[in-house]
Parts: sequence; structure tokens; C-alpha cells
Amino acid sequence: MSDSFQIEEVVLRVVKLPLKEPFTTSLWTTPHKTPILVEMRGQGISGWGEGAVPLFPFYNHETPQTVLHILRDFALPLFFKEKPKTPPELAQLLKRIQRNGFARAALEMAYWDWTAKAQGKPLYQLLGGARQEIPVGVSVGIQKDTATLLKKVGEFREQGYQRIKIKIAPGKDLEPVKALLTEFPGLPLMVDANSAYTLKSAAIFREMNQYPLLMIEQPLHETDIYEHSLLQKELSNPICLDESIESLREAEAAIALRSCKIINIKPGRVAGLTESVAIHDYCQRHDIPVWCGGMLESGIGRATNMALATLPNFRYPGDISESSRYYHEDIVEPDITLRPGGTLQLPSSPGIGFEVNMKRIEGLKQLEERFRP
Ligand SMILES: [Mg+2]
Repeated sequence: MSDSFQIEEVVLRVVKLPLKEPFTTSLWTTPHKTPILVEMRGQGISGWGEGAVPLFPFYNHETPQTVLHILRDFALPLFFKEKPKTPPELAQLLKRIQRNGFARAALEMAYWDWTAKAQGKPLYQLLGGARQEIPVGVSVGIQKDTATLLKKVGEFREQGYQRIKIKIAPGKDLEPVKALLTEFPGLPLMVDANSAYTLKSAAIFREMNQYPLLMIEQPLHETDIYEHSLLQKELSNPICLDESIESLREAEAAIALRSCKIINIKPGRVAGLTESVAIHDYCQRHDIPVWCGGMLESGIGRATNMALATLPNFRYPGDISESSRYYHEDIVEPDITLRPGGTLQLPSSPGIGFEVNMKRIEGLKQLEERFRP
């Protein structure tokens, strides 16, 4: 790590990325994405980070506007005043800002990428990752009917994805699971409820016990840890927590209470890569596997997630699909593409390892602001 602060400028950009098709969960439909891109410049090097915040405050409290507000008015002034020398120092500094994980992560990830490039190392090596190839799965939104779902899942299997995750909601849960496991016996399947159930309506998961699932993701309230422990006791299928884990503290509580058997780590949700690695390490010591979730990232956030998912306790395929899963055109080059067998290959070049396509960003740009010390 470097021993002085060398960042000369930070550029915030918002781009509007059209999705190939809208993505529907139990709570909302995403028509397009507007990632907040952070470019950190110094010594002729650009480090990139992405605030992969959803358009609506339905996943957590954040939106693109709140991410911009927190970055502009709090995170960047702190960054240039305190001049942290390393990404973990920056992560520690940004803990003064409560919550707002997507905003804090966007800046911290850019510092990790910048630091890796300054050292001439791939980001995954700097994070402690050991492998250059990672298994990945695909996340399928709620479809209009079961026939459409079966067709989509069939196509993703043909493309080679190693596991399928479907979004579920009350009334759209047992039937799709049954249909998928009948059509594709032995399918590595998991479901994600995005906190759409209560303890009472979660009785459906006892029925679902007859179907072996890789995991049931976030069935109950997004801030709950206790009720998930009650539900997990009744289920043979493992519960995985997503929304409930905003930092290492919630991971410690969830493991102590046996609220889940698996944790989904998203750098944006937990305020960056430093906290992601801390949660990974803690889970590894407690034999709780983790995997890397996704927020329909552009190639910048996607490449960052790929680097994180090389750490050894990422034991399930991540929601890190190839660029063409969601987008006609990505903003990195080359496109992130799936290899036969359903894996992604980590590049050997420094930082996130993909080139950012500035021309494409210019074409999609809705806002640009520059900040200097
Ligand atoms: Mg989830």
C-alpha cells in the first residue's frame, strides 16, 4: 500500500443503462439502471467504482439521488480533508457516515481499483483471492407465467449457468419451484423472496421443504435477524440472508442466533470491499459459506464483484452473469462473457482488469461533476 495520499481528482458520473428487459422482484420492477460511477484520478491512473443503487428505495433506503448527496456533501469532503492512504483507511473513515452502503462502497471500490493499478496487481490478488476462475449462476425475475419461466430457465441452462435463482412472491412461490424441479430434475435451484413474507405467511416454506433447494434467500423482513432464526429451525432448506446483513455486526448476530446457514455478500449493501472481506473472513471461521450477490451492475461493478468472489469461502456460484444477460452494450471492454461450464475468467491485468469504454459512457451520461482537494 502507498504511504502518501496521491488522489488529485474524483469524477462522479451518472449513466442511464437500458436493460434488455425489465427485471421484476417481489417488490418492484426495474426498467433501466442509473449506476453512479466514481472515477478516482491520480498519478495518471484512474480507479473505478460503481454505486449500483436501485432506482427506488425498496431494496434498502438508498436511491441514485441519495448516493449523489452522500458522496458530494459528506464522503468526498471527508476523503479530501482526511486524505486516507489506503482503501481500508477510507472504509474506516466512511464509517462516520451511518448506513448509505452503496454511496460509501462506490468511493471505496474506486480507491481499491486505483490502489491495485498503482501497484500493478489485479484487484483480486490485493483482496486475497486465490483463483482466476469463478463459478456463476443467474438470477431470474418473476415471469408472467410458468411456461415463460421454464423456457427462460431452459435457455440459461443451455448457456451453462451453474445454478438458477428465481425471484418469488406470495402466490408465486411453490408452483414455479415444483414446475422447475419437475422439468429439470436435480436443478441447482434457489429462491429469493426479497423479504416478502411474514412468519405467518412463511408457512409456505414448510411445504417447500419437500423440494431440496440450495437456499431460501431473505424470506422475512429486511431488518430482521431474530424471526429468521425461528423460521430456520423449522426448515431443512437453508436460509440465506441478504438485506438483513448491512455490516459485520449483523453477520455476527445472525450466526450467533443461527438465523441462516449461508450469507449473500454484496459490496454495495455492506459499504464496500473492506467490509465484504471482513464478513467473508468471519463466516469462514464459523463455517458459514458465502456467495456474491448482484444488483444488475454495469461491467465496472460486475468486474469488482468477480474479484471479490475469488476469495476461498465464496462457495456458491455468484449472481455475476455475463454482460449480455442484462445489457445490449456494456461500458467495459471486453464484454464479460461466460465460459463453457458456467464460469467467468478473471483478467490478469491490474485493478478490475477491464477497460472502461469512455466513448460509451459519454453517450449514456446524464450528469458529470468533478471534485478536487
Ligand atoms: Mg437477494
